[in-house]
Amino acid sequence: MAKGSGRKKIAIIGNGISGTTAARFIRKQSNHDIVVISKETDHFFSRTAIMYIYMGHMKYEHTKPYEDFFWSKNRIDLIRGEVENIDFEKKVIHFKDSAEFETEYPAPGTLNYDALILALGSKSQYYNWPGQDLEGVNGLYSFQDLGYMEKYTENIDRGVVVGGGLIGVEMAEMMATRKIPVSFLVREDHFFGNAIPEEEAKMIGQHISDHGIDLRLNTEIAEITAGENGRCNGVVTKDGERIPCQFVGLTTGVTPNISFLENSEIETQKGILVDEYLQTNIEDVYAIGDCAQLRNPPPGRNPIESVWYTGRIMGMTVAATLCGNRKKYNPGIWFNSAKFFDIEYQVYGHVPPEIPDELDSYYWQDDKKHSCLRVVFSKGNEKVLGIHGFGLRLRQEVCEKWIREGKTVDEVIADICAAVFEGEFTRSFEREILASYNRERNKSISLRKKRSWKSALSILSGK
Ligand SMILES: Cc1cc2nc3c(=O)[nH]c(=O)nc-3n(C[C@H](O)[C@H](O)[C@H](O)COP(=O)(O)OP(=O)(O)OC[C@H]3O[C@@H](n4cnc5c(N)ncnc54)[C@H](O)[C@@H]3O)c2cc1C
Repeated sequence: MAKGSGRKKIAIIGNGISGTTAARFIRKQSNHDIVVISKETDHFFSRTAIMYIYMGHMKYEHTKPYEDFFWSKNRIDLIRGEVENIDFEKKVIHFKDSAEFETEYPAPGTLNYDALILALGSKSQYYNWPGQDLEGVNGLYSFQDLGYMEKYTENIDRGVVVGGGLIGVEMAEMMATRKIPVSFLVREDHFFGNAIPEEEAKMIGQHISDHGIDLRLNTEIAEITAGENGRCNGVVTKDGERIPCQFVGLTTGVTPNISFLENSEIETQKGILVDEYLQTNIEDVYAIGDCAQLRNPPPGRNPIESVWYTGRIMGMTVAATLCGNRKKYNPGIWFNSAKFFDIEYQVYGHVPPEIPDELDSYYWQDDKKHSCLRVVFSKGNEKVLGIHGFGLRLRQEVCEKWIREGKTVDEVIADICAAVFEGEFTRSFEREILASYNRERNKSISLRKKRSWKSALSILSGK
């Protein structure tokens, strides 16, 4: 650090959403020197859009939220290279030989820093199945994984996906769009059943099957078998059934990508342990995004949350702290979204897979089984704690405000049109929701708003 200038050299390892947000917000608020390091790609890209590259809806360059000149224009230096280890005492980063990377931004041997942000993300998690290291077996996390999948799904007769979560269904859809038959093995009774209630899980499972996917519930993998060429040629389930295939996608979860920090003085459990300021046990070293594990998570929240929006908030939080405005991490109200083939999914707040005794929920599903809404509330005061929407788009700000302000389920249903984000001419389901709510709960409430942005504004402004 230049003496007396207050200008620091901040190194950020990881150019995903958390590292990039930290870099952008440090630049907005300071004159610090910033360098962002990644072994994956030269520039930040949207990991959530990987499936659309494979399906041909987008090219890689369309997934980059910023033009390539953005980084030099904003004086954010980039390095493409793999960090091998860090000397925390001397504040020096050591790189592996980066000759393998074709890049404009080659890594030096070492790099010193004043403050360090670890934004290392996740990696796919496997469970030591025999055959998991065979050729043609892979997860889907990185840009390199996408290249792997492109190569190993070319001209194949069948792909198998193992693991019933959000990335699993993306992999199934990816192959299905290329007309590759897919068997999808899910250990639980229902697809995504460990995260969402049974009705929603059944509806989505049916939708996946309707798309021609061979969805196998209650099915666990025992081993992956190899052909003469050493490449996978099938999967054997725990029931002894053999499913011939030439590609296996393992989507059984992710885990923080922190192996290179093992045996260093930084404290880790599953992830890198951080306090509410996202600081590690080492001075001037912070961890954010998927790789960070909160020592004391806020009530009802998990110590590690591997989602885009929390990574973004963590990036903004650490930037404020490093720019002199020390700030605690506040993830706000839980939010997640995904897409299951044609059905979009959003969750706001607390919607547990099994509704416990102290809570209740109102559930509506349309006749075609393509849309549903669940509102979870406390049994006593009927205050809303969580909202699930499938096949209908709900406005995040409105749902969050209702939950934050403890609106009752009656109030939410009466104002439901204000939360609907659908276009003017899309199907209107609000009357169906209201009618079934009144019937089931023996109420006689009516809709108080129309479907429009003005209604949303009136909720947000409290008028
Ligand atoms: C296919 C897919 C779909 C997803 N869809 C959604 C979604 O719809 N909604 C949602 O909320 N979330 C989604 N997620 C999760 C979300 O993408 C992640 O939570 C988020 O991208 C994590 O951001 P991050 O900045 O913490 O880490 P990452 O984006 O993983 O970035 C970390 C970077 O650090 C680099 N790195 C790690 N170690 C080193 C090292 N030693 N040297 C150099 N570089 C290193 C990595 O290569 C990587 O580039 C999805 C994830 C995947 C894989």
